[in-house]
Amino acid sequence: MLLTIAADIPASELGYLLHKNPARFHSFDLSFGKAHVFYPKVGSIRSEAALLLDVDPVGLVRGRSHTAEAGLHQYVNDRPYIASSFLSVAMSQVFGTAMSGRSKERQELADQPIQFDALITALPCRGGSELLKRLFEPLGYESEAKGYHLDEHFPEWGTSPYYTVRLRNHVRLRDLLTHMYVLIPVLDAEKHYWVGEDEVEKLLRKGEGWLADHPERQTIVNRYLRYDRKLTRSALGRLVEGESNDPEAEDIDHTQEERSIEAPLKLWEQRIGSITSALRSREAQTVVDLGCGEGKLLSVLLHDRSFERIVGVDVSWRALEIASKRLHLDQLPIAQRSRIELLHGSLMYKDKRVSGFDAAVVAEVIEHLDRPRLAAFERVVFEHARPGMVLVTTPNAEYNPLFPFLPSGRFRHKDHRFEWTRSEFQRWAMENAERFGYKVRFLPIGTSDPIAGPPTQMGVFER
Ligand code: SAH
Repeated sequence: MLLTIAADIPASELGYLLHKNPARFHSFDLSFGKAHVFYPKVGSIRSEAALLLDVDPVGLVRGRSHTAEAGLHQYVNDRPYIASSFLSVAMSQVFGTAMSGRSKERQELADQPIQFDALITALPCRGGSELLKRLFEPLGYESEAKGYHLDEHFPEWGTSPYYTVRLRNHVRLRDLLTHMYVLIPVLDAEKHYWVGEDEVEKLLRKGEGWLADHPERQTIVNRYLRYDRKLTRSALGRLVEGESNDPEAEDIDHTQEERSIEAPLKLWEQRIGSITSALRSREAQTVVDLGCGEGKLLSVLLHDRSFERIVGVDVSWRALEIASKRLHLDQLPIAQRSRIELLHGSLMYKDKRVSGFDAAVVAEVIEHLDRPRLAAFERVVFEHARPGMVLVTTPNAEYNPLFPFLPSGRFRHKDHRFEWTRSEFQRWAMENAERFGYKVRFLPIGTSDPIAGPPTQMGVFER
C-alpha cells in the first residue's frame, strides 16, 4: 500500500514539513506491521514523499482470541494491500506533528496552502468513485479515480471496488493529511478494530474546521463510526455549524515563551488573583476552567474549600498530563479528589460535561482561536455550556510596546491569532453579551499604564 504526496517545493522544505529528512529512508514499527517513508523525487523545484505501509496479516491475528469470524478470512484478506484505517493510523503515527500543523523549522510554510498532489494506490471506494467525489470535492479537491476489472480476462465478473486515486488541492499540509485520515476509512467502510468512545474525540479533532460544514457529514460520521448509533449521535450532536480551521493546540512551548515576556510583571499571578476574587464575589461553588492548560488556576481553586466542584478542560493531552502531576491527582485524599476532574475536550464542540456550572473561566484562550473558530467557541460557551458567570481574559495589545523584549508588531505568543486593544475586546464582549443574554463589565489585570492601559484585560459576563 503506497501513498505519495508531491508538491512544487524543494525536497528540503517538504522534509521540514513532514519532519522526515529526504536524504534518508525511515522505517517505523507499528502494532500491525511496518511503515516506511522515503522520497521518490528529491528535486529543488518539485519533490515527492512516499509512505509505504506493510501490514502484517499474520501478526494482526496473533494473540487475538479466536472468535466465530476466525477462519481463512482473517489471514487472507485485502488489508495488507489497500488504503484503509491502517493507513490512517500509520499517518497519525508517522506524520503526527505535520498533521497537527506544527513545524519547528518552517512554521510559516506549514501555515500556508500549497498545491499538493496525492496518489493513493488501491483505495477501496465502497459506494463507487461517485462517493469519492462527494467526499473530497466540497473540500476543494480535484479527484481522479481509475477503476479496474476484477479480472481483465473475465469482464463479466464486473469491476473491483479498488481504485487508484489522485487528489489535488491547494491546502495546508495538515489539511491534506487530516482529510485523508478521516475520509480513507470512510471510503473503505470495512470493519476496523479501533472504533470506541475515544474515536468520537479523534474524529471531531481531525474534523475540526471542515467536518461541521461538510454536506456529507452524516455519511462521514456514520461510516467512520461504523454506524454505531450511540457514537454517531454523540458525534453529530456535538458538531456546531460555522466553526472553522485549526491545528491541535499543543502549544506548551509557546506558552513558556509568552510567560517569559510577561514574567517580570508576574502577570499570571495577578490573573489568578483577579479571577479567584471575581469567583468568590459571585459565591461560585462549581467552576469549569476552559483551556485550563497546565492547571495553575485549578491548583489555587483546589486549596479553597468554597469551590465544591472544579473541572479543567483542555484540548491538549500534554497540558492535562502536566496539570495532573501539578495537582498530584493520584495522591489526593478521596474527599479532595472528588472535587476535581480533568477532561479532554475541545471548546469547538458542544459538550454536556461542561454545562450547568456556576462559573466558567476562559483565561488567555480566545486569542489562540482564529475568527471562524471563535464563532463556534462563542456558541459553545454562552449558548450551550451557559454558566451563570463567564470570566474571559486576554492580552491588551495596547500594552505591547511597553514590554522590553517584544519586537514591535509581534504578538506575545507565536500561536496568537490576534491581540485586541481594549475597545476591540469590549466590542466583541458586548456583542456577545447582548446576543446571549449576559451583562458584561470589564476589569484591568496588572498595573495600568496611564495611556496604554493594563497588560491584561478581563470581561466579567453574568446572567
Ligand atoms: N488558561 C491557562 C492556559 C492558557 S494557554 C492559563 O491561563 O494559563 C491556552 C490553552 O488553551 C492551552 O492549554 C491550549 O491547549 C488551550 N486550547 C486552545 N484551543 C483550545 C480548544 N479549541 N479547546 C480547548 N482548549 C484549547
